[in-house]
Amino acid sequence: MRVLVQKFGGSSVAKAEDRQRVVQQVLKARQAGYSVVVVVSAMGRRGAPYATDTLLDLIAGQEVGEREKDLLLSCGEIISGVVLVGALKEAGLPAVCLTGAQAGIITDGHFGDARIIRVEPQRVRRELEAGRVVVVAGFQGVSAEGEITTLGRGGSDTTAAALGVALEAEAVEIFTDVDGLKTADPHIVEDAKTLRTVTYNELCQLAYEGARVIHPRAVEIAREKNIPLRIRSTFNDDPGTLVVASQAVFGGTRIGGDRLITGITNVGGLTQLRVKLTGEKKARDLFCHLASEGISVDFINLFPDEAIFTVSNKVAERALASLREQGFDVEVRPNCAKVAAVGAGMRGVPGVMAAIVTALAQEEVAILQSADSYTSIWCLVDEAHMEKAVRALHRQFKLSA
Ligand code: ASP
Ligand code: MG
Repeated sequence: MRVLVQKFGGSSVAKAEDRQRVVQQVLKARQAGYSVVVVVSAMGRRGAPYATDTLLDLIAGQEVGEREKDLLLSCGEIISGVVLVGALKEAGLPAVCLTGAQAGIITDGHFGDARIIRVEPQRVRRELEAGRVVVVAGFQGVSAEGEITTLGRGGSDTTAAALGVALEAEAVEIFTDVDGLKTADPHIVEDAKTLRTVTYNELCQLAYEGARVIHPRAVEIAREKNIPLRIRSTFNDDPGTLVVASQAVFGGTRIGGDRLITGITNVGGLTQLRVKLTGEKKARDLFCHLASEGISVDFINLFPDEAIFTVSNKVAERALASLREQGFDVEVRPNCAKVAAVGAGMRGVPGVMAAIVTALAQEEVAILQSADSYTSIWCLVDEAHMEKAVRALHRQFKLSA
């Protein structure tokens, strides 16, 4: 059995005409000889009657509790799945809708952000063997205690990747309303290009650092078993972006051979904290205190007498107040943004940092902090300079070419 998993986001299943496009994609895959599993998100965005945010609004200000909230949210994807089965059957395709639990998505018990711990795909397999299109409600699972859980916002991608792995699918296709992964946010860089191929590592970095086309956890899951991912548009036949293991030869073509930088990402809403470390106030005291307050830190640079890191603007005031209360000497810089150049090809190549520093200096963008890994160089800048910085780096690495 050749299995293809096709995941459709909320905007791809919102209206009847959208669902017709989904039916066409499923038909095409079946004609190509695939057994098809379709994973759906809830229909539409906030305001649409059964969108996730609309369901959340129903209980805004109420104390229903995390368990009940997950029960409510899981309904959005189930409704979407049933309606899509209707459209598939109308087109003469045998189809069945399964909830996450029925599809064997077993999670931990962490309501609102559960992790998939295993997939029991027997039921899905049986349905496929019987010749049916299996429509699975995304973004949800069931815990060992039998509780319905959800996987965190954007979690339908994760459902699709997990099913792809469990069913040893030939590929997982993530259908969305953009043509694929871009070299930068197209709202900032008008001539950002659609990338034809990226590696799992690059996509993971890009997804964690602000590119919103796919949930990073989905990429991690697919990477583990090397299941090819494709990000593509429901609205046209553009092949989109193929995600593969390495820049080596894939299907006879050399991928991204001498590409140094793949894309530029940005995330705003960060506050930089600089904390003096003296005799009694050690790094251990600082980070243990922040951990005990449940404050997540990022972009951490540690020196013998100073720690520099960022927190989300949302928790900055709380972090600052509690650190000062503990007697720490803290300097704050709110409204920062992280801009990153990502590319698996930069490893061991001299001059990448030089190019970044040059491009930002030309635009008079001050670098407040930087860090790097083997696929990324991050710079912290003033949020007011973020867009200018993204455009400067995009230009510097000739990503529109
Ligand atoms: N409907 C959920 C959300 O809006 C899950 C998803 O769309 O992937 O986050
Ligand atoms: Mg999504």
